[in-house]
Amino acid sequence: MLISPQNSTLHVQNVRSRIRQAAVAAGRDPAAVTLVAVTKAQTAESIRLAATAGVTDFGENYLQEALAKMDQFAGQALRWHFIGGIQSNNTRAMAERFDWVHSIDRLNIARRLAEQRPFHAAPLSLCIQVELVPEPNKGGVIPSEVRQLADAIAQLPKVRLRGLMCVPPPQADAAAERGVFARLRVLLEELNANGHELDTLSMGMSGDFESAIAEGATLVRIGTALFGHR
Ligand SMILES: *Cc1c(COP(=O)(O)O)cnc(C)c1O
Repeated sequence: MLISPQNSTLHVQNVRSRIRQAAVAAGRDPAAVTLVAVTKAQTAESIRLAATAGVTDFGENYLQEALAKMDQFAGQALRWHFIGGIQSNNTRAMAERFDWVHSIDRLNIARRLAEQRPFHAAPLSLCIQVELVPEPNKGGVIPSEVRQLADAIAQLPKVRLRGLMCVPPPQADAAAERGVFARLRVLLEELNANGHELDTLSMGMSGDFESAIAEGATLVRIGTALFGHR
């Protein structure tokens, strides 16, 4: 599907208004929810249109694809979020080029990012990906292992653990979605009760972001609802 500039703006405005409504319905400040536009399989032109419509945060899943597009926005004040599976030989470019990495599920990766983050750069923001619903090949640590990983990441230089992220499979209804997201919120609350100071729940995609916001999402990662089907 070709997206005209007007259409793209329309989608951004539509998603923003749904985010606002979900936040207000939950008694939350809409400004506390950051929209990350997920641009995997989208062109640099789509990114440019979304940026023109005021989107500042972009999420990418595949490193090489991301770097090629990011090169076209050098010098623009966009924030880049890596949200895909991570191979250890990819960490250097991530440490150098991204602002956030959401999909940390082992200490080895966080260590490499800490070592490879340029000296002059701000700390790299990290989230631990949690597998709340067991699925083959999905990535993420199981809930019982989150605490140990968080404690270890908190000791690393040049990275800042910001919170938790999840990518649950589609659920039967909104109540079931909220049940899953509530578990991520409780895990974050438990970490903060144990000395962490985490401010980020990265949860909610096109199909379930309203449920995620109801359970405290501070960052929603949205592709299809903004850009149409990939
Ligand atoms: C693709 C993807 C999204 C966005 O999914 P949509 O359903 O298109 O909104 C969000 N998070 C992750 C980790 C993804 O891979």
